[in-house]
Amino acid sequence: MADYDIVVLGGGPGGYASALYAASAGLTVALVEQGKVGGTCLQRGCVPAKALLQAAEVYRAVGHAGDFGFRLPDGATAAVDWPAVNARKSGIVTQLTRGLSGLLKRRKVTVVSGHGRLTAAGAVEAGGQTLTGRAVIVCAGSVPRSLPGLDIDGERVVTSDHTTNSTQAALPERVAVIGGGVIGAEFASVFTDLGVTTTLLEALPHGVLPIGPDRDVADVLARALARRGTSVHAEARVGSVERTGDGLVVPFETPHGAEKLEVDQVLVSIGRRPATEDCGLEEAGVQVSRGFVEVDTDTMLTSRPGVYAIGDCVNTPGLAHVAYAEAVVAVQHILGERPVPVDYVKVPWVVYTHPEVAWAGLTEAEARAAGYDVEVHKHAFAGNARAMIIGDTDGMVKVVAQRNGPILGFHLVGPWASELLSEGYLAVNWEALPNDVGAFIHPHPSLAEAIGETMITFSGRSLHG
Ligand code: NAD
Repeated sequence: MADYDIVVLGGGPGGYASALYAASAGLTVALVEQGKVGGTCLQRGCVPAKALLQAAEVYRAVGHAGDFGFRLPDGATAAVDWPAVNARKSGIVTQLTRGLSGLLKRRKVTVVSGHGRLTAAGAVEAGGQTLTGRAVIVCAGSVPRSLPGLDIDGERVVTSDHTTNSTQAALPERVAVIGGGVIGAEFASVFTDLGVTTTLLEALPHGVLPIGPDRDVADVLARALARRGTSVHAEARVGSVERTGDGLVVPFETPHGAEKLEVDQVLVSIGRRPATEDCGLEEAGVQVSRGFVEVDTDTMLTSRPGVYAIGDCVNTPGLAHVAYAEAVVAVQHILGERPVPVDYVKVPWVVYTHPEVAWAGLTEAEARAAGYDVEVHKHAFAGNARAMIIGDTDGMVKVVAQRNGPILGFHLVGPWASELLSEGYLAVNWEALPNDVGAFIHPHPSLAEAIGETMITFSGRSLHG
């Protein structure tokens, strides 16, 4: 007789979603967490990072107060009070952590504090207890990768873990961000907007979001960052970082030559790796490859019967909402139901930079490479009334469809792209025809009108396009 229906190892988005969903279906659940519930996403990732991005948004808006007809006293500008910015961010994290703990308690999930390890018998040891479950879900998450020889001290050489929990009295004056992926782009956007001299060093040929989004939308972000002052270097080979008196020297080489950059802080954002060591996986007969737990994504089952794995510790997109979806797949399978697997090519992606970038489905290049006869239409936010009213017209909607067929990819860059994405996400996943979406009404004035306009263009006609 097992103690619980499910023992969940890890309390991040994958873990707490598994626990809450299973409890809502009447299962008994123990959730093992070594830190605070919420995991990377809530404690040091998505949520605090987006709170910092929102602070940067407000700072930008204050800087543009004059555009809206507000006069500030002569010479007055807003000054960044970094501890106050962090206090607001921490308040949001604390409130959400309390809310999550309360929700777990109300659903009668037993939260066990401590590091959890699977045993050879398939139980979980944590906090001096041995917990047995009819099923175990491993949601061990991921941690930032580092460069060989680079000592991450949390002060001068940091990762997103540190910047989202900064206790420093002020922002550094000069930062080098190594890696221009999702984290690098988001933090470069925050730093640049808050007045930090920011240099982005990316190994691949495109300096900003080189992998993932459609090039047209990523290039709009790259140009916007460059205009605001981010110095972006693509094809950068970063050498050994040297510590000087109170700074750092970052040597790097690009096809344009070698340079030495003096900065106060280096942010390393070159990707994340699964945090699966010391979880007892091998001993329990769970197959692991390059640190990732191997799973059958139809069920999220590992190589050991009864043991599932989801979230960042498996080799699927490292996104909180993908972990939520995988939690539902695993729990439904445990319940003996037939889950609909996650369609990983069509998950929603959002980069919360300024401007925001968001997409679902195939890029134009991916669609062409897959052999589709594609039709592509784009619509800029420049002529959109709401974008002008907001004072933020940089960006576009781009729709990639099969000629006379369904929408294959939906791409956005611009104001509130994060929120606008959901319509395109549904269209891609329902394999909607552009003309069908174009026949639906979009309110006026709204940013979403740009989506409607792009879809209507597929009919060969247009309104304002
Ligand atoms: P990433 O894989 O998105 O980007 C890493 C970048 O670093 C790549 O462009 C890579 O080419 C570059 N790089 C690698 N080694 C380098 C080197 N030595 N020098 C210079 N550049 C180098 O990884 P990330 O940005 O660290 O994010 C990690 C994970 O977190 C991702 O899985 C991402 O999905 C997730 N995340 C998502 C969001 C979001 O959805 N908004 C936000 C933050 C993080």
